[in-house]
Formats: sequence, C-alpha cells, structure tokens
Amino acid sequence: MAKDGRKYIFVLGGVMSGVGKGIAASSIALILKQRGYKVNLVKIDPYLNVDAGTMNPTEHGEVFVLSSGLETDQDMGNYERFLGIDLGPADYMTSGMVYQSVIGRERALGYGGKCVEAIPHVRDEIMDRIQAAGQKHDSQISVIEIGGTVGDFQNALFIEAARVLNMQHPGNVSFMMVSYLPVPGTLGEMKTKPTQNAVRQLNSYGVQPDFLIARSKRPMDEKRKEKLAIAVSVRPDHIISAPDVDSIYDVPLNFEKDKLGDVLLTSLGLPVGDAADMQEWEVFVKNTKVTTPEVRIGIVGKYFDTGDFVLSDAYLSVIEALKFSAAAVGVKVLLEWVNAKEFEKGGDIETLRAYDGILVPGGFGESGIEGKIQAIRFARENKIPYFGLCYGMQLLTVEYARHVAGIAEAHTVEINPDTKDPVIDVMPEQKELIKEGKYGGTMRLGTYTAVLKDGSIAREAYRTAEVLERHRHRYEVNPEYVERLSKAGLVFSGTSPDGVLMEIAELPKSEHPFFLGTQFHPELIARPLSPHPLFTAFIKAARDTKK
Ligand code: GLN
Repeated sequence: MAKDGRKYIFVLGGVMSGVGKGIAASSIALILKQRGYKVNLVKIDPYLNVDAGTMNPTEHGEVFVLSSGLETDQDMGNYERFLGIDLGPADYMTSGMVYQSVIGRERALGYGGKCVEAIPHVRDEIMDRIQAAGQKHDSQISVIEIGGTVGDFQNALFIEAARVLNMQHPGNVSFMMVSYLPVPGTLGEMKTKPTQNAVRQLNSYGVQPDFLIARSKRPMDEKRKEKLAIAVSVRPDHIISAPDVDSIYDVPLNFEKDKLGDVLLTSLGLPVGDAADMQEWEVFVKNTKVTTPEVRIGIVGKYFDTGDFVLSDAYLSVIEALKFSAAAVGVKVLLEWVNAKEFEKGGDIETLRAYDGILVPGGFGESGIEGKIQAIRFARENKIPYFGLCYGMQLLTVEYARHVAGIAEAHTVEINPDTKDPVIDVMPEQKELIKEGKYGGTMRLGTYTAVLKDGSIAREAYRTAEVLERHRHRYEVNPEYVERLSKAGLVFSGTSPDGVLMEIAELPKSEHPFFLGTQFHPELIARPLSPHPLFTAFIKAARDTKK
C-alpha cells in the first residue's frame, strides 16, 4: 500500500452507543474544513446488511439516501448537513459490503488460489476502501467514524484495519474515542471508570487513543480530567469535555472554542493556521435559538414506539429540515409526535386543530395508514397547512381521490393489491423485482429531475423550473388516474421530464393555504446553510395560518 501523506482521524465509541460519535466526527471535519483543509468523512457500519435499506427505522433510525441512491445510515445525513456536501458510495461501508466484495473476488479466482481469511483479506479490503475514499476527494485529512462501541465483536476488524494503517503511516493517524462519563443520580459525582475500562479494551487491540471526547451531562472538572488523563495515558489537553448541549449545531462551535482544532492539527504535524471561519454557522445557530413566534407542527407517523420509549430517529432529516427552515423564517418550531394508529382506535381527530401545520412523512405498509388519511383529510378540510413526504404524498392522493374526486375505493396497491381503484400503483419495473423477492437496494432510489408547473406553489417556492430531488419508493401515482384527479382539482405541479411520473401534488392557493405532497424526499437535501424551499414555504404557511 502506497504511503499517501494523508492524515487519518479515527473516531471510535467507548462505553455505550448513542453518545454522539457522528456529531463529533461531523464537527471535527467542519472545523478543520473551515481552517482551509480539504477533509473527507467516512462512515463504517459494522452490521452485515449490505446497506441500511432493509432495516426497520425503529431498529436503526432513518434510512438516509445518497444522491447516488445508496441507502445509508442517518449519520451520513449529519455529515452532509454539517459539511454542506453530497457524499457518495465511496464514503460509506458496512461489513456486508466489505464481505460481499471479498467473496465476489474469491468466486472470481481473484485471490490466486490463496486461502481467503478475515486477516489479511477482509482487513485489507477495509483499508483499501478507507484510502480510496480519501483519494477520491483528494483530501488532506480523512475523518473515519467506526460505528458501534469498542469491545463489540462486530467492529474489531475495522479497528484492526485502523491499527495497521497507523503502523504503515506513522505520525499520520490519530485515534479519538468518544466516551461517556455518567453522573449517577445516587452519587451525584462524575465517574471515569467506564471510560478507563473502554480505553483498556481499546488498548487490548493494540490501539492507544490520542484524544478523548468526554461526553457527559455536566462539564468535566479539572480534577477528574487529571485523574482520567493519568489513568488512560491521554494528555489532559487532549481530553475535551463535551457536556450535553441544546443543539447539535453548537458542537463545532464548542470544539473550536476549546481549541480542539489546534491540538488535533499539532498532533498530526499540520500547521494550525488561523481559527476556523465559523461566521455563517454562528449566524445559523443564532437563528435556531429564536423563541417566538412559535409554530406547532404535528408529525403524523408511526415509527416512534420502541418498548416504553419514544424515539424520533426514524424521522431525523425531517426534523432537521423543519428546524433549518424555521431558522430561516425566524420562528421557533415545536414538533409533536402524533401516532397515526391512535386515530384508527377512535382517537379524537379534533386534537389536530392544535397544530399550525401537519406533516405526514415517508413510510411503508399498512399500520397507521387509515389514521394518516384521516389526518390529511382533516388538514384539507380545515385549511391547516399540510406537507406530505413520499407516502405522505401518495396518501394525499388517495385521500383526495376518495373524498373529492368520488373514487370511493381508491387505495394504494401496497396495502390492497386487489383494489378496484389503484390510484397508487406499483411501478412497472418493480413488479418483477417484488415477485423475485429482490428487495435490497431495488426501489426507485436517488436523484431524479422533476419539471415544475408554472404558477404552482412548488414553482414559486423553488424559483426554478427544474429541480433535482432524492427518491426512495416502489409505488407511484397511477398514470391512468391523473386526468380524473386533475379534473377534480388536484394539481400535479411536478412531473418527471417525460411527464409520466407525478412528483408533486398540490392544491391551488385559492383553495388551501398549503396542501402539498412530494413523491421525493426533500428533507434529504435540506442543509443548515441552505434550507429547503418547500419546507420553508410550509413553515411560512403555518406561521401565516397561525396569525
Ligand atoms: N411505501 C411507499 C412506496 O414504496 C412510500 C415510500 C416512502 O415513503 N419512502 O412507494
């Protein structure tokens, strides 16, 4: 393997998952980028799924679709949002992908008769992919996040690859552990022992962390920092206290304030240069902190409940997109989770009146769908701004067909394959795939063009005649019903360039302040510094309705 002169920063998790490795990795990359370095980010997911598309979002959070169509982990969304760039397939790997390549090569006699083993062959495949990503971006610094927690069996091979890369590139590799320091309620004292043990576990792999991001409820005091530094052989100025913050977008600003960039660059032998230029970011963060006026948005979905806990990770990009537009419009957005299944069990639909806007995000399958249709009808009839994303657009169409266009049995064939009125039908090329059970990575995925209709809400919001948006679906508005629906007043304001696929449906402004659905997922390209025009239009409509 060639010496490439590139610097590598590996971000690893200690103690437990969910403490913000992805945000730490994104924030580091951002502050280094804002110092003028060319930085790339790679996410490694240790699971055997070849991509994240086959996992239930309550299990693993949202599936984030790249422009290329690759279905990835939600952290990739954070990376794109923090850095304001589009990532590609080279920037993501799972164990499944890595093994698939190795096994594919073995079947093609690519190993020249050798016995193919995890070490060295799988490890080398991982190292090749890490280096290829840096090369592709021609970056000076690669930040690589290894998913899971140190000590998991699943990620050991990835840590081994990082260790060997460090051996081969002495002085060019840095290890950073994002760990958690609990403050047990009964003690009221911050405990460093779990982190000490996590570092020892990493040591047992032959890796010593150079930096520790100490996540905790409260800031870490000097006394504990000294103690931890000695216990785990990490210099005190390489231990960064990272207490809980109101907003993940504060993290890069805090890292910069704590001079993490200085110590990181110095330890990698790179010039520290000027402080990171965070001006635009600071303005954005400030705008996210307005407290009035408030706009209440009800998100009607179903992927919230896991046991006794309510998680919103399944809708991460939607939440962030709403926040970016709220910041741009100058309002505070209050998000509430409305479980669509409740309306099916007799829950009072009138409760929706409390919202200034209602949103139905993407989804699959039967559960909660009649509840969502009820919610959409309520929003339409009561002129509450409504925004439907993917499934939310398909169900908008079903609702309009049933209750306005007089197509009483309108349905999506995803739920009722034998419906008399398949207003939402399976896409022709999907039929064979489903029959053959080929589900993984086969939806209509990634970026496609939509052409917008003059005079529509969408056209006005985007201020352009053609847009590129990311998709993830198997079903679509059935072309055979387009004429009837249009005659009944539904405007298909965005279509594929050949006019066959309906990409946006809306009602004219004269009928409703904002009633619009997109077959694509606009939330996937909303960024802090460039909020999505349709989310912004929705938030504006919600604000104006409230008035
Ligand atoms: N289930 C619908 C389809 O496959 C919608 C998908 C989605 O919301 N992402 O077409």
